[in-house]
Amino acid sequence: ESVGPTIAAGEILVEIMATDRGLGFLEPLALVGPYPSGAPAIFIDQVARLGGGAGLIGCVGRDDFGTINLERLRRDGVDVSAVAVSDRYPTGSAFVRYRPDGGRDFVYNIAESAAGQIRLTAEVRQLADRAGHLHVMGSTLSVAGLKEIVAYATKAVRARGGSTSFDPNVRKELIDGADGGQFSALVDDADLLLPSGEELLTAAGVDDECQAVRALLARGVGEIVLKRGAAGSSRFAADGSRIDCAGFLVEEVDPTGAGDCFGATYLTCRRKGMEPGKALFYANAAGARNVTRRGPMEGVAGFDVLDGFIAGTARAT
Ligand code: ATP
Ligand code: MG
Repeated sequence: ESVGPTIAAGEILVEIMATDRGLGFLEPLALVGPYPSGAPAIFIDQVARLGGGAGLIGCVGRDDFGTINLERLRRDGVDVSAVAVSDRYPTGSAFVRYRPDGGRDFVYNIAESAAGQIRLTAEVRQLADRAGHLHVMGSTLSVAGLKEIVAYATKAVRARGGSTSFDPNVRKELIDGADGGQFSALVDDADLLLPSGEELLTAAGVDDECQAVRALLARGVGEIVLKRGAAGSSRFAADGSRIDCAGFLVEEVDPTGAGDCFGATYLTCRRKGMEPGKALFYANAAGARNVTRRGPMEGVAGFDVLDGFIAGTARAT
């Protein structure tokens, strides 16, 4: 594994959530927020919390929503030199409401916010040129400037012997702007693929888990780590090996951010040289602990906190 920070690119948002469950935002509601958010921001903040080198490529507005994100990321040790501050556009936002069945409705302001303004700037090139790993997220593919950044950063990271990961977390509300060809190229190129549930089948274009895993590994994906929510996770490698990890038994307060914390933890443990089974165990702990906290980035945790959580929490059998 090459040296240099793990970098991620994409939306930095605030999240504002409805306090009561229900469908959508069609009447006045009690809301709580703003919380720092955005899948790439949550991911990279968790990398930094674990003591991994971490840098983020993004854009915020010159407003309080931008400031709470920048302050949090800086405090946790993320390099924000490649986060631009826009004078013209406000920081992006996501309103979220949980449905009674556990699903979620979102109202996003991303494409026409500062988050939609990310560009391949000199600062982005400088960060990519010293990075050891690039993480890309499906949620970001609708942002126009991302394509050029991902192309540049993938080449830069690979030239230094580094690796890439892809989380195909395409939200139904964001899928329209995404480019199908870019999506498959990112899947094919990934050293590590981090799908959750159905995303595995979507990425492979088949409707059976085993077939999907085989098809993706045959397409050149290095390893697949499948997120199963409360049921835990599984890891499939090109050598045919499989590891399953049962979920921790927790009370789910807020599921948003679990996948990002999980992925960041698995990747960072692996980049630190940990074997896959142990990395998966820590990732499960990080995902489970995240859902016990309200706010997508409020559940990020270092190894000390995770060790305490593991010692005090039972697992499903
Ligand atoms: P996101 O909602 O952030 O997109 P995701 O769908 O990508 O998340 P999940 O499968 O929901 O990912 O969660 C990632 C991991 O976190 C799971 O594989 C599991 O280890 C842990 N996790 C998530 N929800 C729970 C839960 N309710 N109980 C225990 N562990 C959980
Ligand atoms: Mg989920």
